[in-house]
Amino acid sequence: MENLTMEQILFPNIDKTPADYEAMYPPRELPEGAKVTRFAPSPTGFLHFGSLFAAFIAAKTAGKDGVFYLRIEDTDKKREVENAVEGIVNGLKDFGIIPDEGAISDDAEIGAYGPYTQSRRTHIYKAFVKDLVAKGLAYPCFMTEEEIAGVRAMQEEQKVLPGIYGKYAKYRDITADEAKKRIDAGEEYVVRLKSPGKPDGRIKFKDEVKGKIEIQENILDIVLLKKDGTPTYHFAHAIDDHLMRTTHVTRGDEWLSSVPIHLQLFYVLGFKAPKYAHISPIMKEDAETHGKRKLSKRKDPEAAVSFYAEAGYPAGAVNEYLMTIANSNYEDWKRANKTETIDKFPFALNKTSKAGALFDIVKLHDISKTYISTLDTDTVYKAVTKWANEYDDELYRLIAEDADYAHRIFSIERGSKKPRKDIGKWSEVKDYISYFYDDLFDGKREIAENIAAEDAIEILTRYSKLYDPAGAPEDWFPQVQELAAELGFARSPKDYRNEPEKYKGHAGDVAGVIRAAVTGRLNTPDLFTIMQVLGAGKVQERITEAINILKG
Ligand code: GLU
Repeated sequence: MENLTMEQILFPNIDKTPADYEAMYPPRELPEGAKVTRFAPSPTGFLHFGSLFAAFIAAKTAGKDGVFYLRIEDTDKKREVENAVEGIVNGLKDFGIIPDEGAISDDAEIGAYGPYTQSRRTHIYKAFVKDLVAKGLAYPCFMTEEEIAGVRAMQEEQKVLPGIYGKYAKYRDITADEAKKRIDAGEEYVVRLKSPGKPDGRIKFKDEVKGKIEIQENILDIVLLKKDGTPTYHFAHAIDDHLMRTTHVTRGDEWLSSVPIHLQLFYVLGFKAPKYAHISPIMKEDAETHGKRKLSKRKDPEAAVSFYAEAGYPAGAVNEYLMTIANSNYEDWKRANKTETIDKFPFALNKTSKAGALFDIVKLHDISKTYISTLDTDTVYKAVTKWANEYDDELYRLIAEDADYAHRIFSIERGSKKPRKDIGKWSEVKDYISYFYDDLFDGKREIAENIAAEDAIEILTRYSKLYDPAGAPEDWFPQVQELAAELGFARSPKDYRNEPEKYKGHAGDVAGVIRAAVTGRLNTPDLFTIMQVLGAGKVQERITEAINILKG
Protein backbone atom coordinates (compact mmCIF):
# COMPACT_ATOMS: atom_id res chain seq x y z
CA MET A 1 0.00 0.00 0.00
CA GLU A 2 1.27 3.44 -0.88
CA ASN A 3 2.01 5.84 1.92
CA LEU A 4 -0.68 8.44 2.22
CA THR A 5 0.26 12.00 3.06
CA MET A 6 -1.24 13.73 6.09
CA GLU A 7 -3.61 15.84 3.98
CA GLN A 8 -4.80 12.76 2.08
CA ILE A 9 -5.52 11.02 5.36
CA LEU A 10 -7.41 13.95 6.83
CA PHE A 11 -9.28 15.11 3.73
CA PRO A 12 -9.68 12.19 1.32
CA ASN A 13 -12.78 13.67 -0.30
CA ILE A 14 -11.67 17.25 -0.76
CA ASP A 15 -10.56 17.67 -4.35
CA LYS A 16 -10.72 21.41 -4.86
CA THR A 17 -7.72 23.60 -4.05
CA PRO A 18 -7.43 27.16 -2.78
CA ALA A 19 -6.59 28.17 -6.34
CA ASP A 20 -9.97 26.84 -7.49
CA TYR A 21 -11.75 29.02 -4.97
CA GLU A 22 -9.60 32.04 -5.77
CA ALA A 23 -10.75 31.65 -9.36
CA MET A 24 -14.38 31.18 -8.35
CA TYR A 25 -14.38 34.30 -6.20
CA PRO A 26 -12.15 36.77 -8.03
CA PRO A 27 -11.43 40.25 -6.69
CA ARG A 28 -14.47 42.43 -7.16
CA GLU A 29 -14.62 44.94 -9.93
CA LEU A 30 -15.55 48.07 -8.07
CA PRO A 31 -14.69 51.73 -8.47
CA GLU A 32 -11.38 52.79 -6.95
CA GLY A 33 -11.67 53.11 -3.18
CA ALA A 34 -15.06 51.37 -2.95
CA LYS A 35 -15.42 49.46 0.27
CA VAL A 36 -16.82 45.99 0.87
CA THR A 37 -18.33 45.43 4.31
CA ARG A 38 -20.50 42.87 5.99
CA PHE A 39 -22.80 42.22 8.90
CA ALA A 40 -22.17 38.73 10.23
CA PRO A 41 -24.64 37.75 12.93
CA SER A 42 -25.26 34.36 14.46
CA PRO A 43 -28.87 33.30 13.91
CA THR A 44 -29.87 33.32 17.56
CA GLY A 45 -33.31 34.79 17.01
CA PHE A 46 -32.69 38.09 18.75
CA LEU A 47 -31.60 41.24 16.97
CA HIS A 48 -29.83 43.38 19.55
CA PHE A 49 -29.78 47.16 19.20
CA GLY A 50 -25.97 46.88 19.27
CA SER A 51 -26.15 44.54 16.27
CA LEU A 52 -28.37 46.98 14.44
CA PHE A 53 -25.75 49.62 15.18
CA ALA A 54 -23.00 47.34 13.81
CA ALA A 55 -25.03 46.67 10.66
CA PHE A 56 -25.73 50.38 10.30
CA ILE A 57 -22.02 51.18 10.53
CA ALA A 58 -21.13 48.48 8.00
CA ALA A 59 -23.81 49.72 5.59
CA LYS A 60 -22.71 53.35 5.96
CA THR A 61 -19.07 52.39 5.49
CA ALA A 62 -19.87 50.69 2.18
CA GLY A 63 -22.00 53.64 1.15
CA LYS A 64 -23.36 53.85 -2.36
CA ASP A 65 -20.25 52.80 -4.27
CA GLY A 66 -19.37 49.81 -2.16
CA VAL A 67 -20.96 46.49 -1.31
CA PHE A 68 -22.55 45.60 1.99
CA TYR A 69 -23.51 41.97 2.49
CA LEU A 70 -25.12 39.77 5.12
CA ARG A 71 -23.30 36.61 6.21
CA ILE A 72 -24.88 34.14 8.56
CA GLU A 73 -22.44 32.71 11.09
CA ASP A 74 -24.19 29.54 12.10
CA THR A 75 -21.33 27.26 13.02
CA ASP A 76 -22.61 27.05 16.58
CA LYS A 77 -25.69 24.92 15.97
CA LYS A 78 -26.63 24.86 19.66
CA ARG A 79 -27.60 28.53 19.63
CA GLU A 80 -29.57 28.39 16.43
CA VAL A 81 -33.25 29.29 16.18
CA GLU A 82 -35.66 28.52 13.36
CA ASN A 83 -36.45 31.29 10.87
CA ALA A 84 -33.83 33.43 12.54
CA VAL A 85 -32.47 34.63 9.21
CA GLU A 86 -35.84 36.03 8.24
CA GLY A 87 -35.95 37.75 11.61
CA ILE A 88 -32.57 39.36 10.95
CA VAL A 89 -33.39 40.35 7.38
CA ASN A 90 -36.75 41.87 8.35
CA GLY A 91 -35.32 43.43 11.48
CA LEU A 92 -32.75 45.27 9.38
CA LYS A 93 -35.30 46.11 6.71
CA ASP A 94 -37.55 47.80 9.28
CA PHE A 95 -34.77 50.34 9.62
CA GLY A 96 -34.06 50.66 5.93
CA ILE A 97 -30.88 48.57 6.07
CA ILE A 98 -30.94 46.33 3.01
CA PRO A 99 -27.79 44.39 2.20
CA ASP A 100 -26.64 44.28 -1.43
CA GLU A 101 -25.79 40.60 -1.17
CA GLY A 102 -26.14 37.65 1.12
CA ALA A 103 -28.80 35.67 2.88
CA ILE A 104 -32.34 36.90 2.29
CA SER A 105 -34.13 34.10 4.15
CA ASP A 106 -33.27 30.81 5.82
CA ASP A 107 -32.75 29.12 2.48
CA ALA A 108 -32.30 31.82 -0.14
CA GLU A 109 -29.56 34.28 -0.93
CA ILE A 110 -28.39 36.71 -3.60
CA GLY A 111 -24.88 37.53 -4.84
CA ALA A 112 -21.94 35.87 -6.57
CA TYR A 113 -19.74 35.36 -3.51
CA GLY A 114 -21.81 32.79 -1.64
CA PRO A 115 -22.82 30.58 -0.05
CA TYR A 116 -23.22 33.33 2.56
CA THR A 117 -24.16 30.91 5.32
CA GLN A 118 -21.18 29.32 7.01
CA SER A 119 -22.70 25.89 7.50
CA ARG A 120 -22.89 25.63 3.70
CA ARG A 121 -19.19 26.45 3.24
CA THR A 122 -17.62 23.46 4.99
CA HIS A 123 -16.06 22.14 1.78
CA ILE A 124 -14.37 25.50 1.23
CA TYR A 125 -12.87 25.66 4.72
CA LYS A 126 -11.61 22.10 4.37
CA ALA A 127 -9.87 22.82 1.07
CA PHE A 128 -7.88 25.58 2.72
CA VAL A 129 -7.07 23.53 5.81
CA LYS A 130 -5.99 20.66 3.58
CA ASP A 131 -3.59 23.03 1.87
CA LEU A 132 -2.19 24.27 5.19
CA VAL A 133 -1.72 20.68 6.34
CA ALA A 134 0.09 19.87 3.09
CA LYS A 135 2.40 22.82 3.71
CA GLY A 136 3.09 21.73 7.28
CA LEU A 137 1.27 24.78 8.66
CA ALA A 138 -1.54 22.84 10.35
CA TYR A 139 -1.86 19.45 12.03
CA PRO A 140 -4.38 17.13 13.62
CA CYS A 141 -4.45 17.26 17.41
CA PHE A 142 -5.80 14.28 19.36
CA MET A 143 -5.57 15.78 22.82
CA THR A 144 -8.60 14.93 24.94
CA GLU A 145 -10.51 17.47 27.04
CA GLU A 146 -8.88 16.00 30.15
CA GLU A 147 -5.40 16.32 28.71
CA ILE A 148 -6.05 19.95 27.79
CA ALA A 149 -7.44 20.66 31.25
CA GLY A 150 -4.31 19.03 32.73
CA VAL A 151 -2.05 21.25 30.65
CA ARG A 152 -4.00 24.33 31.71
CA ALA A 153 -3.71 23.46 35.40
CA MET A 154 0.01 22.98 35.03
CA GLN A 155 0.38 26.25 33.14
CA GLU A 156 -1.53 28.07 35.83
CA GLU A 157 0.80 26.68 38.45
CA GLN A 158 3.85 27.64 36.42
CA LYS A 159 2.32 31.03 35.74
CA VAL A 160 2.85 30.80 32.00
CA LEU A 161 0.52 31.68 29.12
CA PRO A 162 -2.29 29.13 29.07
CA GLY A 163 -3.12 27.24 25.88
CA ILE A 164 -1.78 24.78 23.37
CA TYR A 165 1.52 26.00 21.93
CA GLY A 166 5.21 25.12 21.69
CA LYS A 167 6.11 22.25 24.02
CA TYR A 168 2.50 21.96 25.23
CA ALA A 169 1.31 21.16 21.72
CA LYS A 170 1.59 17.41 22.02
CA TYR A 171 0.79 16.57 18.41
CA ARG A 172 2.61 19.39 16.65
CA ASP A 173 5.01 16.99 15.01
CA ILE A 174 2.76 13.98 14.65
CA THR A 175 3.55 11.78 11.67
CA ALA A 176 1.05 10.79 8.99
CA ASP A 177 1.32 7.18 10.08
CA GLU A 178 0.51 7.87 13.68
CA ALA A 179 -2.40 10.12 12.69
CA LYS A 180 -3.77 7.36 10.50
CA LYS A 181 -3.54 4.79 13.27
CA ARG A 182 -5.39 7.03 15.70
CA ILE A 183 -8.07 7.92 13.16
CA ASP A 184 -8.53 4.26 12.24
CA ALA A 185 -8.90 3.52 15.94
CA GLY A 186 -11.78 6.01 16.04
CA GLU A 187 -10.03 8.78 17.96
CA GLU A 188 -11.46 12.26 17.55
CA TYR A 189 -9.30 15.20 16.63
CA VAL A 190 -9.30 18.87 15.81
CA VAL A 191 -7.05 20.54 13.27
CA ARG A 192 -4.77 23.19 14.73
CA LEU A 193 -2.67 25.91 13.21
CA LYS A 194 1.07 25.42 13.70
CA SER A 195 1.54 28.98 14.85
CA PRO A 196 4.66 30.67 13.51
CA GLY A 197 4.44 33.28 16.29
CA LYS A 198 7.35 34.04 18.60
CA PRO A 199 6.99 34.80 22.33
CA ASP A 200 8.83 38.08 21.86
CA GLY A 201 7.05 38.94 18.61
CA ARG A 202 4.97 42.11 18.47
CA ILE A 203 2.50 43.20 15.87
CA LYS A 204 1.36 46.68 14.99
CA PHE A 205 -1.75 47.61 13.13
CA LYS A 206 -4.04 50.54 12.70
CA ASP A 207 -7.62 50.04 13.70
CA GLU A 208 -9.96 52.38 11.83
CA VAL A 209 -11.79 53.24 15.03
CA LYS A 210 -9.35 52.64 17.85
CA GLY A 211 -6.24 53.95 16.14
CA LYS A 212 -2.71 52.54 16.34
CA ILE A 213 -2.38 49.35 18.30
CA GLU A 214 0.66 47.29 19.22
CA ILE A 215 0.28 43.88 20.86
CA GLN A 216 1.96 40.55 21.39
CA GLU A 217 1.69 38.34 18.33
CA ASN A 218 -0.19 35.07 18.51
CA ILE A 219 1.78 32.01 19.57
CA LEU A 220 -1.16 29.67 20.21
CA ASP A 221 -1.84 26.70 17.99
CA ILE A 222 -5.45 27.74 17.67
CA VAL A 223 -8.11 25.36 16.43
CA LEU A 224 -9.05 25.79 12.77
CA LEU A 225 -11.50 22.93 12.44
CA LYS A 226 -13.44 21.54 15.36
CA LYS A 227 -14.02 17.82 15.95
CA ASP A 228 -17.18 17.86 13.85
CA GLY A 229 -15.31 19.41 10.94
CA THR A 230 -16.85 22.88 11.34
CA PRO A 231 -14.54 25.88 11.43
CA THR A 232 -13.86 28.09 14.41
CA TYR A 233 -14.90 31.72 14.21
CA HIS A 234 -11.26 32.71 13.63
CA PHE A 235 -10.71 30.46 10.67
CA ALA A 236 -14.08 31.08 9.04
CA HIS A 237 -13.51 34.82 9.42
CA ALA A 238 -10.21 34.63 7.52
CA ILE A 239 -11.54 32.44 4.73
CA ASP A 240 -14.89 34.18 4.32
CA ASP A 241 -13.70 37.74 4.51
CA HIS A 242 -10.94 36.91 2.05
CA LEU A 243 -13.07 35.07 -0.48
CA MET A 244 -15.98 37.47 -0.17
CA ARG A 245 -13.44 40.22 -0.73
CA THR A 246 -14.27 42.23 2.36
CA THR A 247 -12.16 45.36 2.54
CA HIS A 248 -13.33 46.60 5.97
CA VAL A 249 -14.22 44.33 8.84
CA THR A 250 -16.47 46.34 11.14
CA ARG A 251 -17.35 44.36 14.25
CA GLY A 252 -17.75 44.57 18.00
CA ASP A 253 -14.62 45.38 19.97
CA GLU A 254 -14.83 42.11 21.89
CA TRP A 255 -12.88 40.80 18.87
CA LEU A 256 -10.05 43.32 19.17
CA SER A 257 -7.90 41.01 21.26
CA SER A 258 -8.23 38.31 18.57
CA VAL A 259 -6.67 40.46 15.87
CA PRO A 260 -3.19 38.88 16.35
CA ILE A 261 -4.72 35.49 15.58
CA HIS A 262 -6.56 36.87 12.58
CA LEU A 263 -3.59 38.69 11.10
CA GLN A 264 -1.52 35.57 11.54
CA LEU A 265 -4.13 33.51 9.74
CA PHE A 266 -4.23 35.95 6.84
CA TYR A 267 -0.45 35.74 6.75
CA VAL A 268 -0.13 31.94 6.72
CA LEU A 269 -2.95 31.67 4.20
CA GLY A 270 -1.19 34.14 1.94
CA PHE A 271 -4.11 36.58 1.99
CA LYS A 272 -4.04 40.34 2.14
CA ALA A 273 -5.54 41.33 5.49
CA PRO A 274 -8.62 43.56 5.49
CA LYS A 275 -8.82 46.80 7.43
CA TYR A 276 -10.36 46.42 10.87
CA ALA A 277 -12.76 48.76 12.60
CA HIS A 278 -13.66 47.66 16.12
CA ILE A 279 -16.81 49.29 17.35
CA SER A 280 -17.38 50.04 21.01
CA PRO A 281 -20.55 48.70 22.54
CA ILE A 282 -23.48 50.98 23.23
CA MET A 283 -23.49 51.80 26.92
CA LYS A 284 -26.25 52.59 29.33
CA GLU A 285 -26.33 54.33 32.66
CA ASP A 286 -27.41 51.77 35.21
CA ALA A 287 -30.49 52.96 37.11
CA GLU A 288 -29.26 51.45 40.36
CA THR A 289 -25.52 52.01 40.42
CA HIS A 290 -25.42 55.07 38.10
CA GLY A 291 -22.33 53.50 36.59
CA LYS A 292 -21.94 52.73 32.90
CA ARG A 293 -22.58 49.25 31.59
CA LYS A 294 -23.32 47.62 28.26
CA LEU A 295 -26.89 47.79 26.98
CA SER A 296 -28.20 44.47 28.22
CA LYS A 297 -30.55 42.02 26.57
CA ARG A 298 -31.68 40.89 30.00
CA LYS A 299 -32.17 44.24 31.74
CA ASP A 300 -33.10 46.71 29.00
CA PRO A 301 -36.21 46.38 26.83
CA GLU A 302 -34.65 48.85 24.40
CA ALA A 303 -31.84 46.37 23.72
CA ALA A 304 -34.21 44.47 21.42
CA VAL A 305 -34.70 45.96 18.00
CA SER A 306 -38.38 44.97 18.15
CA PHE A 307 -38.81 47.59 20.90
CA TYR A 308 -38.47 50.43 18.37
CA ALA A 309 -40.93 48.96 15.91
CA GLU A 310 -43.48 48.32 18.66
CA ALA A 311 -43.12 51.81 20.12
CA GLY A 312 -43.44 53.14 16.59
CA TYR A 313 -40.23 55.08 16.20
CA PRO A 314 -39.94 55.76 12.49
CA ALA A 315 -36.98 54.11 10.78
CA GLY A 316 -35.70 57.49 9.64
CA ALA A 317 -35.59 58.78 13.20
CA VAL A 318 -33.83 55.68 14.51
CA ASN A 319 -31.32 56.03 11.67
CA GLU A 320 -30.64 59.62 12.65
CA TYR A 321 -30.22 58.58 16.25
CA LEU A 322 -27.82 55.82 15.21
CA MET A 323 -25.86 58.39 13.25
CA THR A 324 -25.57 60.68 16.29
CA ILE A 325 -24.02 57.83 18.24
CA ALA A 326 -21.91 56.70 15.26
CA ASN A 327 -20.44 60.10 14.41
CA SER A 328 -20.54 62.82 17.06
CA ASN A 329 -20.20 65.55 14.42
CA TYR A 330 -23.51 64.53 12.81
CA GLU A 331 -25.61 66.87 14.92
CA ASP A 332 -23.55 69.94 13.99
CA TRP A 333 -23.76 68.92 10.36
CA LYS A 334 -27.52 68.49 10.64
CA ARG A 335 -27.92 71.92 12.20
CA ALA A 336 -25.99 73.43 9.31
CA ASN A 337 -27.82 71.32 6.71
CA LYS A 338 -31.34 71.19 8.07
CA THR A 339 -33.06 70.07 4.91
CA GLU A 340 -30.47 67.50 3.82
CA THR A 341 -31.13 63.81 4.30
CA ILE A 342 -28.83 61.57 6.29
CA ASP A 343 -27.44 60.02 3.08
CA LYS A 344 -25.63 63.26 2.34
CA PHE A 345 -23.72 63.18 5.62
CA PRO A 346 -20.05 62.28 5.13
CA PHE A 347 -19.90 59.35 7.55
CA ALA A 348 -16.37 58.51 8.68
CA LEU A 349 -15.31 55.41 10.56
CA ASN A 350 -12.53 57.26 12.33
CA LYS A 351 -15.09 59.62 13.91
CA THR A 352 -16.79 56.73 15.65
CA SER A 353 -16.63 56.84 19.42
CA LYS A 354 -13.67 54.91 20.83
CA ALA A 355 -15.16 54.70 24.28
CA GLY A 356 -18.74 53.62 23.62
CA ALA A 357 -21.65 56.01 23.25
CA LEU A 358 -24.24 56.27 25.98
CA PHE A 359 -27.73 55.14 25.00
CA ASP A 360 -30.20 57.96 25.48
CA ILE A 361 -33.87 57.30 24.85
CA VAL A 362 -34.82 60.91 25.59
CA LYS A 363 -32.55 62.00 22.80
CA LEU A 364 -33.99 59.43 20.43
CA HIS A 365 -37.43 60.74 21.33
CA ASP A 366 -36.42 64.34 20.64
CA ILE A 367 -34.81 63.42 17.34
CA SER A 368 -37.92 61.49 16.44
CA LYS A 369 -40.21 64.46 17.26
CA THR A 370 -38.23 66.70 14.98
CA TYR A 371 -38.11 64.01 12.32
CA ILE A 372 -41.86 63.39 12.41
CA SER A 373 -42.54 67.14 12.33
CA THR A 374 -40.88 67.31 8.91
CA LEU A 375 -42.94 64.50 7.34
CA ASP A 376 -45.83 65.37 5.06
CA THR A 377 -49.41 64.48 5.95
CA ASP A 378 -49.74 61.47 3.70
CA THR A 379 -46.44 59.98 4.91
CA VAL A 380 -47.62 60.34 8.49
CA TYR A 381 -51.01 58.87 7.66
CA LYS A 382 -49.45 55.86 5.95
CA ALA A 383 -46.91 55.28 8.70
CA VAL A 384 -49.52 55.48 11.45
CA THR A 385 -51.82 53.18 9.51
CA LYS A 386 -49.06 50.63 9.04
CA TRP A 387 -48.11 50.78 12.69
CA ALA A 388 -51.71 50.61 13.92
CA ASN A 389 -52.47 47.71 11.62
CA GLU A 390 -49.93 45.75 13.58
CA TYR A 391 -50.24 47.11 17.10
CA ASP A 392 -53.56 48.90 17.65
CA ASP A 393 -56.76 47.59 16.07
CA GLU A 394 -58.98 50.36 17.38
CA LEU A 395 -56.78 53.13 16.05
CA TYR A 396 -56.42 51.28 12.77
CA ARG A 397 -60.17 50.98 12.38
CA LEU A 398 -60.77 54.66 13.11
CA ILE A 399 -58.19 56.09 10.75
CA ALA A 400 -58.81 53.58 7.99
CA GLU A 401 -62.57 54.12 8.11
CA ASP A 402 -62.36 57.77 7.12
CA ALA A 403 -58.97 58.37 5.57
CA ASP A 404 -59.90 61.86 4.51
CA TYR A 405 -60.79 62.91 8.05
CA ALA A 406 -57.55 61.38 9.37
CA HIS A 407 -55.58 63.23 6.71
CA ARG A 408 -57.14 66.49 7.82
CA ILE A 409 -56.19 65.75 11.43
CA PHE A 410 -52.59 64.93 10.56
CA SER A 411 -52.29 68.00 8.37
CA ILE A 412 -52.88 70.41 11.27
CA GLU A 413 -49.87 72.72 11.52
CA ARG A 414 -47.86 70.46 9.27
CA GLY A 415 -45.83 71.77 6.38
CA SER A 416 -45.28 75.20 7.93
CA LYS A 417 -41.85 76.72 8.56
CA LYS A 418 -42.09 75.89 12.24
CA PRO A 419 -44.06 72.65 12.39
CA ARG A 420 -45.20 71.35 15.78
CA LYS A 421 -43.03 68.71 17.41
CA ASP A 422 -45.70 66.91 19.37
CA ILE A 423 -45.42 63.32 18.24
CA GLY A 424 -42.31 61.28 19.05
CA LYS A 425 -43.54 57.80 18.17
CA TRP A 426 -46.60 56.31 16.55
CA SER A 427 -47.81 54.80 19.81
CA GLU A 428 -48.42 58.38 21.02
CA VAL A 429 -50.75 59.20 18.16
CA LYS A 430 -53.89 57.65 19.61
CA ASP A 431 -53.84 59.81 22.69
CA TYR A 432 -52.73 62.83 20.70
CA ILE A 433 -55.69 62.72 18.33
CA SER A 434 -58.21 61.24 20.77
CA TYR A 435 -60.50 64.29 20.91
CA PHE A 436 -61.16 64.00 17.19
CA TYR A 437 -62.96 60.71 17.76
CA ASP A 438 -65.90 60.23 20.09
CA ASP A 439 -64.80 56.61 20.54
CA LEU A 440 -61.50 57.81 21.99
CA PHE A 441 -62.50 61.08 23.64
CA ASP A 442 -62.90 60.60 27.38
CA GLY A 443 -65.35 63.50 27.69
CA LYS A 444 -63.51 65.13 30.59
CA ARG A 445 -63.11 68.91 30.52
CA GLU A 446 -60.13 70.45 32.26
CA ILE A 447 -60.75 74.17 32.79
CA ALA A 448 -57.79 76.28 33.93
CA GLU A 449 -57.83 76.83 37.70
CA ASN A 450 -57.87 80.60 37.51
CA ILE A 451 -61.22 80.68 35.72
CA ALA A 452 -64.41 80.60 37.76
CA ALA A 453 -67.04 78.10 36.62
CA GLU A 454 -69.67 80.78 36.05
CA ASP A 455 -67.23 82.77 33.89
CA ALA A 456 -66.48 79.66 31.90
CA ILE A 457 -70.18 79.02 31.39
CA GLU A 458 -70.66 82.61 30.26
CA ILE A 459 -67.71 82.40 27.84
CA LEU A 460 -69.02 79.20 26.31
CA THR A 461 -72.61 80.31 26.06
CA ARG A 462 -71.59 83.51 24.33
CA TYR A 463 -69.00 81.86 22.11
CA SER A 464 -71.41 79.19 20.97
CA LYS A 465 -73.50 81.96 19.43
CA LEU A 466 -70.52 83.76 17.94
CA TYR A 467 -68.80 80.75 16.41
CA ASP A 468 -68.81 80.98 12.63
CA PRO A 469 -67.41 77.89 10.91
CA ALA A 470 -67.21 79.83 7.65
CA GLY A 471 -65.21 82.63 9.25
CA ALA A 472 -61.66 83.44 8.21
CA PRO A 473 -58.85 82.01 10.38
CA GLU A 474 -57.41 85.47 10.97
CA ASP A 475 -60.74 86.68 12.38
CA TRP A 476 -61.12 84.08 15.04
CA PHE A 477 -58.75 85.40 17.65
CA PRO A 478 -59.84 89.09 17.34
CA GLN A 479 -63.35 87.77 17.92
CA VAL A 480 -62.18 86.02 21.08
CA GLN A 481 -60.46 89.25 22.17
CA GLU A 482 -63.68 91.14 21.63
CA LEU A 483 -65.57 88.62 23.71
CA ALA A 484 -62.83 88.76 26.36
CA ALA A 485 -63.17 92.52 26.63
CA GLU A 486 -66.94 92.29 26.95
CA LEU A 487 -66.66 89.76 29.77
CA GLY A 488 -64.08 91.66 31.81
CA PHE A 489 -60.90 89.99 30.52
CA ALA A 490 -57.93 91.89 29.08
CA ARG A 491 -57.35 91.74 25.32
CA SER A 492 -53.71 90.72 25.77
CA PRO A 493 -51.51 89.13 28.43
CA LYS A 494 -49.55 92.37 28.53
CA ASP A 495 -52.60 94.47 29.39
CA TYR A 496 -53.44 91.97 32.06
CA ARG A 497 -49.94 92.02 33.56
CA ASN A 498 -49.96 95.82 33.69
CA GLU A 499 -53.23 96.01 35.62
CA PRO A 500 -54.08 92.57 36.95
CA GLU A 501 -56.59 93.92 39.48
CA LYS A 502 -58.72 95.34 36.67
CA TYR A 503 -59.28 92.02 34.86
CA LYS A 504 -60.42 88.43 35.40
CA GLY A 505 -57.69 87.25 33.08
CA HIS A 506 -56.91 87.77 29.40
CA ALA A 507 -58.05 86.66 25.96
CA GLY A 508 -55.71 83.66 26.08
CA ASP A 509 -57.64 82.40 29.11
CA VAL A 510 -60.90 82.84 27.25
CA ALA A 511 -59.54 80.86 24.29
CA GLY A 512 -58.32 78.28 26.83
CA VAL A 513 -61.87 77.75 28.10
CA ILE A 514 -63.10 77.18 24.55
CA ARG A 515 -60.18 74.87 23.88
CA ALA A 516 -60.91 72.85 27.00
CA ALA A 517 -64.60 72.62 26.10
CA VAL A 518 -63.95 71.43 22.56
CA THR A 519 -60.92 69.16 23.12
CA GLY A 520 -60.69 68.49 26.84
CA ARG A 521 -57.13 69.80 26.74
CA LEU A 522 -55.32 72.89 27.91
CA ASN A 523 -52.79 72.55 25.12
CA THR A 524 -53.46 71.73 21.49
CA PRO A 525 -52.39 72.83 18.04
CA ASP A 526 -54.26 75.75 16.47
CA LEU A 527 -57.79 75.65 17.88
CA PHE A 528 -59.52 77.27 14.94
CA THR A 529 -58.14 74.62 12.59
CA ILE A 530 -59.14 71.90 15.02
CA MET A 531 -62.69 73.22 15.04
CA GLN A 532 -62.71 73.30 11.25
CA VAL A 533 -61.68 69.65 11.16
CA LEU A 534 -64.21 68.64 13.82
CA GLY A 535 -67.03 70.44 12.03
CA ALA A 536 -69.54 72.94 13.39
CA GLY A 537 -71.98 70.32 14.64
CA LYS A 538 -69.39 68.56 16.76
CA VAL A 539 -68.01 71.85 18.09
CA GLN A 540 -71.44 72.97 19.27
CA GLU A 541 -72.12 69.56 20.79
CA ARG A 542 -68.85 69.65 22.75
CA ILE A 543 -69.54 73.20 23.98
CA THR A 544 -73.03 72.24 25.16
CA GLU A 545 -71.65 69.17 26.92
CA ALA A 546 -69.01 71.30 28.62
CA ILE A 547 -71.59 73.82 29.82
CA ASN A 548 -73.64 70.99 31.28
CA ILE A 549 -70.60 69.56 33.05
CA LEU A 550 -69.74 72.99 34.46
CA LYS A 551 -73.26 73.49 35.67
CA GLY A 552 -72.84 70.20 37.51
N1 GLU B 1 -20.68 36.16 14.35
C1 GLU B 1 -19.82 37.11 14.99
C2 GLU B 1 -20.58 37.75 16.13
O1 GLU B 1 -21.78 37.73 16.09
C3 GLU B 1 -19.42 38.15 13.98
C4 GLU B 1 -18.32 39.03 14.32
C5 GLU B 1 -17.85 39.65 13.04
O2 GLU B 1 -18.55 40.54 12.55
O3 GLU B 1 -16.82 39.23 12.53
O4 GLU B 1 -19.98 38.26 17.05
